[in-house]
Amino acid sequence: MMQPVTGIIRDARYLDHLPGHTHPEHPSRLRAIYEMIDREFAEKLLTITPQPAAMDDLELVHTPAYIKKVLKTAEHQFTSLAPDTPASAKTYLAAWLAAGGCIEALKAVWSGLCRNCFALIRPPGHHALPGRAGGFCIFNNVAIAARYAQRVMRVKKTLIVDWDIHHGNGIHEFFYDDPEVFYFSSHDKLLYPYSGDFDEAGEGEGAGYTVNVPLTRDLENEDMVALYQMLLPRIVERYRPELILVDAGFDAHRDDPIGRSHLTEEAFTELTRLILNLGSALGDPKIVFVLEGGYDPRALSRCVERVLQVLCAPPGRACMLVGGTTRADALAEEVFRAHKSFKVWVD
Ligand SMILES: [Zn+2]
Repeated sequence: MMQPVTGIIRDARYLDHLPGHTHPEHPSRLRAIYEMIDREFAEKLLTITPQPAAMDDLELVHTPAYIKKVLKTAEHQFTSLAPDTPASAKTYLAAWLAAGGCIEALKAVWSGLCRNCFALIRPPGHHALPGRAGGFCIFNNVAIAARYAQRVMRVKKTLIVDWDIHHGNGIHEFFYDDPEVFYFSSHDKLLYPYSGDFDEAGEGEGAGYTVNVPLTRDLENEDMVALYQMLLPRIVERYRPELILVDAGFDAHRDDPIGRSHLTEEAFTELTRLILNLGSALGDPKIVFVLEGGYDPRALSRCVERVLQVLCAPPGRACMLVGGTTRADALAEEVFRAHKSFKVWVD
């Protein structure tokens, strides 16, 4: 039997979204990743060409009026959906393919076509709201995939892990009262959209199913890895997700022009390893990675390269165990304090 492979979602049409030469969410981000893949992974990955999302799929999270508004940007060479979210004539197609690519990744992993999958797409999605673009995001790709899993594939427990340096306020809002989608985000709350405090932990039936970890700017690789090692295994052991969606933004890299963090590709390598190992210890939830931010093309492609190496490797390699660090302990303490009363994953 053939070894199960790692899949990627890839499409040159993602490069046709042109927000302008000086805009950080530039096609060169994805071009650098695709070139790296041709160089380093030529035959090792299963490349899947996405279909545009169906209208019904977009309407899982977005209003029909907003979807129509995005479609209308096709009539202009250059227009604007939000102050920091411009659109060119073919932006609508890239946005449709980004959401469609995530659904495609989900289906590929679910059917066993590939062992895991990384949707290498743009524009990113985690800031997009039901009727509004924002923060370079047009459709909320990961939220659409999570709703698709829930409504169409009948997945009862999805865990979203968002390590992009920005708070995924769109995802946070969509699932704030929904225990079937657990949202975990670490981010810098002093950056856009300035939300996501410890005490924003979900409401109603979803109380305790949203974990926000506002990071401090002094975190080093080992702090970040220690923090995730203290939190994620507990969440996964108690919640037992059938599906893990990773909102993989790489703007916490120290070379990033927007994030103000000090991480390197080493941190993302270890976080990926941690998530994969959690998976195999806990009944193998399906795992899909989706690209979010990361605005230094060289650093971004190095990070994606390292994540893909881990995704492709035979399962079971142990994580680097870092133990606690002072900074990680302090943050984890705050998270435990905020979550204790819900008894969802902390007692
Ligand atoms: Zn970001």
